[in-house]
Amino acid sequence: MTSPESIPAIVARQREFFAGGETRDLDFRVKSLEKLADEWKKREPEILEALAADLGKPDLEAYVSEYHFVLQEVRLFIKKLRRWAKPERVGSPFYFWPARSEIRREPFGVSLVIAPWNYPFQLAMAPLISSVAAGNCVVLKPSELAPATASKLAEMVESVFDSAHVTTVLGGIEVGKVVLDQRFEFIFYTGGETVGKIVAESAAEHLTPTVLELGGKCPCLLDSEIDLDVAAERIATGKWFNAGQTCLAPDFVLVPEALHDDLVSKLEANLRDWHSGSDLPDLARIVNDSHYQRLQNLAGETVIQIGTDDPETRRMAPRILPRAGFDDPAMQEEIFGPILPVIAYDDPDSTLSELQNSPSPLALYVFSKNRDFLETAAARVPSGSVCFNDLLKQATNFNLPFGGVGSSGHGRYRGKFGFEAFSYDRAVMKRYFFRDFFGIHPPYEGALEKLRKILK
Ligand code: NAD
Repeated sequence: MTSPESIPAIVARQREFFAGGETRDLDFRVKSLEKLADEWKKREPEILEALAADLGKPDLEAYVSEYHFVLQEVRLFIKKLRRWAKPERVGSPFYFWPARSEIRREPFGVSLVIAPWNYPFQLAMAPLISSVAAGNCVVLKPSELAPATASKLAEMVESVFDSAHVTTVLGGIEVGKVVLDQRFEFIFYTGGETVGKIVAESAAEHLTPTVLELGGKCPCLLDSEIDLDVAAERIATGKWFNAGQTCLAPDFVLVPEALHDDLVSKLEANLRDWHSGSDLPDLARIVNDSHYQRLQNLAGETVIQIGTDDPETRRMAPRILPRAGFDDPAMQEEIFGPILPVIAYDDPDSTLSELQNSPSPLALYVFSKNRDFLETAAARVPSGSVCFNDLLKQATNFNLPFGGVGSSGHGRYRGKFGFEAFSYDRAVMKRYFFRDFFGIHPPYEGALEKLRKILK
């Protein structure tokens, strides 16, 4: 753990390093990212091991959603950074000619990245890569709930970066609070809404800009015109990946009454097929005892459960809650676990109104063969992202921005959007030493008449 007393000095050193100007150099940034990519590749087995230790993540899930995801992003930055960082030439008003105007992407300074535990490598490394690429210094605070990952991140950061450039601080809420008391030029936070508000409050103290990547209940709405087999397989895949501990996981499903029973039995058939043994080796574990207990309470008297729970290892069997309702306990908070309520509806219009009146989710999922149904749902229910006829895939496309809206957060990142999030657009105009053909300075007598003619 990092001693809280050492934190002000860490930030002060980074501020000094930033002022030295080295991070403004594009070669320096690209070299830093190349070094990071090399280290990342060398450490693949350690990364998968840490994820198995913290969350029991199956290797395949860890490989695609953390190891390879980060590798792809860092490679993209190495390839595209110089292009993204180029100043953008824009026109100037004719009455100031000759003049040259451009937009420069400038780094903020010292940035803070606070990461959660559910994708503990990906959600720490992706903002770190964006921030370094944009030319900032970074203080990274991983989640204490994924300790093996946190110490691996610290080890890796130490071997790649000068600590005055990028440093990891380890610890829980105590350390988090001291970190937030410092002044940063930019804060990037991923986690729950409650802490998100604390982060926003601390940021306001120094008028620090933020990106807040929060959570919420992502709905999955089905039309009657669908291929139910494909929909059921995709819903089961997206929901139980990482045992449902995904900010973008479908939190609940809304299905037309006539399809309810069929959907439930197809979801169940998929799960029974995939998890034939009782010890669920291909399902991640619940992160800690308090979340395990919280989820047990939400599950209540589950009707459909696939496999057996193991409180010792916190492996929790997938649950389906058929014929659920908006007033059920599982519908009062973000589930963030392997439980899926399925709600039957009769009227699409009142169902959309219900969603419209709920807090805006990070993602909206709609399944239909009917374009009008898809577009009406997207138009009526605001969300950070939308995926039609599948789940999670929108977040794996580096050409799309990732982020929430309203209570699911604000700001965007991933690829170019990450570079832009960690930079600010600086307006730069250059003029030359030609005499102005019209100067706006006293005496003003008669000048307005002349100006009207020029500007008309
Ligand atoms: P959390 O809010 O408990 O913690 C996140 C981070 O904040 C951790 O590093 C933690 O140490 C730190 N922290 C906690 N209390 C703090 C305090 N008082 N001061 C300073 N730092 C503090 O969130 P979590 O449980 O780790 O994550 C789960 C939530 O995150 C879910 O709601 C999920 O939907 C959301 N989430 C969102 C995204 C996204 O990209 N939008 C991704 C993953 C998770």
